[in-house]
Amino acid sequence: MNDLLTWQVAGAKITKIPEQQSTGIPATSLFPQWNRQTVSAFAEHLRPHDVDLQTETLTLSTHSWLVERDGKFIIIDTASGNGKNRPGNPKFHQMNSDWLKALTSTGVTPEQIDAVVLTHLHVDHVGWNTIYCEGEWIPTFPNARYYFSAQEYTFYQDPENVMRPSIGVLEDSVIPVVASGQAVLLDEHEVEVFPGLRIHRTPGHSVAHLAFSMSRGGETALFWGDIAHSPLQVCLPQWISGYCEFPDAAQQSRRDMLSFAAETGALVFTSHFPDRSVGKCVSINGQLCWQHA
Ligand SMILES: [Zn+2]
Repeated sequence: MNDLLTWQVAGAKITKIPEQQSTGIPATSLFPQWNRQTVSAFAEHLRPHDVDLQTETLTLSTHSWLVERDGKFIIIDTASGNGKNRPGNPKFHQMNSDWLKALTSTGVTPEQIDAVVLTHLHVDHVGWNTIYCEGEWIPTFPNARYYFSAQEYTFYQDPENVMRPSIGVLEDSVIPVVASGQAVLLDEHEVEVFPGLRIHRTPGHSVAHLAFSMSRGGETALFWGDIAHSPLQVCLPQWISGYCEFPDAAQQSRRDMLSFAAETGALVFTSHFPDRSVGKCVSINGQLCWQHA
């Protein structure tokens, strides 16, 4: 698997570790506000996979980012994982993807991963935290520290706070890394995960969603998790996905991150945009839009 996409930015080598890309997703299933005419106005800024205006469907990707910087290996979000029981969520139920093969094809072994950094604790961001071994879920990365929000970990321990797609996620993908002693729970005072990786508090999609950025030499890489699910939302930040748990906060956080990305010229590593999944937020004739990189 030597066709993985890589970028060099802000002193880091960043590789996309793909899991799955789904086409033909009805736009109305992601965006309750869907309106073909509204989107048509931005058609020149959108590619066919971003949105298919004929069929009114979208293409979405799930994947992770492998970051190599200053001799350390970091994984940002761990997609959905293999063999996980997600009966309420057919796309992620009992998956059998080549994600781990893709990771090791880079020459990096699971033992070499120093840090796993999670934007939030939804089903499609934490799955490869663990693998099934001799009857139990164990950390995939035995020498890594796993960084995530303390508030989010507490919130999802109440089953009433868990949306249907993420039922079972805490049990098989998060609690095992806490039990192994590898979790580092981030509280609201911390500004960096470790030196050079800045935390942006971006609640809304989930209760304590985090984005992360790193800068060096005038360049910035931004990992914004589920701040936006589609390039459409760069043009239309007021559109809120049906999977955002706190819609008003989600919209505010999206506007904040779009401004940050535009002002810094950051290369944005998204969680669900199709194809290469990377780009910049640029202003064209006063309209902010997504430019694939
Ligand atoms: Zn997601």
